[in-house]
Amino acid sequence: MTPAADPSLVAELSSRAPGLALSTDDLELYRTDIYYTAEHAPLAVASPISADEVAGLVRAARELRLSLATRGAGLSYSAGYIPSDARTVIVDMTRMNRIVEINAVDRYVTVQPGVTWSALRDALRPLGLTTPFWGTFSGLFATIGASLSQGAKFYGSASRGTSAESVLGLRLVTGTGELLVTGSAASSDPASPFFRNYGPDLTGIFLGDSGAFGIKVEITLQLIPAAAETGVCSYSFDDPVAQLGAMGQIGSELLASECLGMDPFSARSRMESEGLAADFKTLGSVVSGSGSFVSGVANAARIAMQGRRFASKIGYLMNCIVEGRDRQDARSRLRRVQQIAKDAGGKPIPASVPRVMRAIPFPRMNGLLTPSGKRMNWLHTVVPNSRGGECFQRTEAAFERHAGAMKTNGIDRGYLLSTHGPSGVGIETLIRWSDAPYPIHTQFMNEAEHARLRRREPNPEAARAVAELSQDIMAEWRAMGGVHMQIGRKYPYLKTRLPETAGLLSNLKRHLDPDGIINPGNLFK
Ligand SMILES: Cc1cc2nc3c(=O)[nH]c(=O)nc-3n(C[C@H](O)[C@H](O)[C@H](O)COP(=O)(O)OP(=O)(O)OC[C@H]3O[C@@H](n4cnc5c(N)ncnc54)[C@H](O)[C@@H]3O)c2cc1C
Repeated sequence: MTPAADPSLVAELSSRAPGLALSTDDLELYRTDIYYTAEHAPLAVASPISADEVAGLVRAARELRLSLATRGAGLSYSAGYIPSDARTVIVDMTRMNRIVEINAVDRYVTVQPGVTWSALRDALRPLGLTTPFWGTFSGLFATIGASLSQGAKFYGSASRGTSAESVLGLRLVTGTGELLVTGSAASSDPASPFFRNYGPDLTGIFLGDSGAFGIKVEITLQLIPAAAETGVCSYSFDDPVAQLGAMGQIGSELLASECLGMDPFSARSRMESEGLAADFKTLGSVVSGSGSFVSGVANAARIAMQGRRFASKIGYLMNCIVEGRDRQDARSRLRRVQQIAKDAGGKPIPASVPRVMRAIPFPRMNGLLTPSGKRMNWLHTVVPNSRGGECFQRTEAAFERHAGAMKTNGIDRGYLLSTHGPSGVGIETLIRWSDAPYPIHTQFMNEAEHARLRRREPNPEAARAVAELSQDIMAEWRAMGGVHMQIGRKYPYLKTRLPETAGLLSNLKRHLDPDGIINPGNLFK
């Protein structure tokens, strides 16, 4: 047990929030996220189990002049929940993990914020239902409350946008300890949470807010029928700019549910590190995740035969998954995707990656370091379709400017590209360098993985070079008007808004959190 920085303060908090679980164990784990580290460990970790406990905690924290940093699974890298000082209490929301109501007739599901995307999918699948956006790649642990606070994107996003676009209403605790309701349920009469915009869209204010406006304690999401049929394809491109053009076109015609691009190195290391072709469990999941046993076996056999063989030959890789009302619908969408890819110069390759993505959408989180133990920093932006190619070239130019420092410090890079609804494409850079791991990087590893891990030494010079490179890339994106999902304290937000908009945002923060105790700094850095 790490000694509390101020045990008497923890005891005082405990007496003012009776019944609330408070811990001072493993405080070093809570000092960092995946990329950032705080100057101080937190004072304590609170794990509420109800909205009342959250409200009690906020009131007690306000009286004691403590700040609160809300945390889900901790799988972000935008300084969104790390302590701002030694008087910060981490609010761990993972124990509020109950699915409250599935209403198949009125097509909504209400959950507590600590429910994971994986648990929600497991509950909805037998009913033939899904949420339009249905999770992040980190969804085995990533929580729904956090994902909405970050405007998370991935599963479903190629045609249905971010997590925010799937929300009907919220309940949240503000910085004064009040419970606020948004959407149709915010009624003085008994009302269902089935509708988002009854009057102005108050729900939207709290989505993508990095938790700066309050702590979400209940969320209602839209339900839609799950796809009856899916189709997959993968293409290799020599020219990433042409690939981004194709990905934008696929989005603009609303053809795919997911469309993910990878640079050759990342694609190869995904194939190799995960051993897709050889892993028995993966193949088992492909069988069970396919529509029928026969097509499952066929898919698994195809992966086993093709997986590694093509991995050494690919260029930039584009993986698409389409969904359809029936087989004919899925096929016609797939044909159009294939035509767009071909017209843009893509060459068809075996679709192992999208098949595995569908069979195991939420893989284990043992890849927070590279297979060789390197650290990673993820940066992303979304730009209009028309500027995807230019954004890629400007990002490459930023890497070029830092080529010397990257070489000296052994820093390398990769890309993830994504289709983002009808209007935009996403560019995400993965920057890798040798550095000592944080406790969170090894938290989800099993014993064998721990034993295999190549533990790197601290490398402050390389870390500094990564930080400078990252700043330069972010400045380049800012100059293009790129937007970001996981703002936290990483991406400059307030200072990039027009004065009237910034004024309204600041007034809202003052109104909802007058003492600035909830996730200080998030959005407002
Ligand atoms: C390997 C890997 C894969 C990833 N894949 C994706 C992906 O596909 N798509 C994507 O968008 N991101 C992805 N991410 C980033 C991240 O995992 C997601 O954004 C995820 O939604 C974070 O969930 P979490 O529970 O870990 O949140 P945390 O990191 O714990 O918190 C994130 C933010 O939400 C706030 N927050 C948490 N709970 C609440 C609450 N109840 N009320 C208000 N604010 C709250 C926190 O203060 C913080 O600012 C990935 C990360 C990794 C490491």
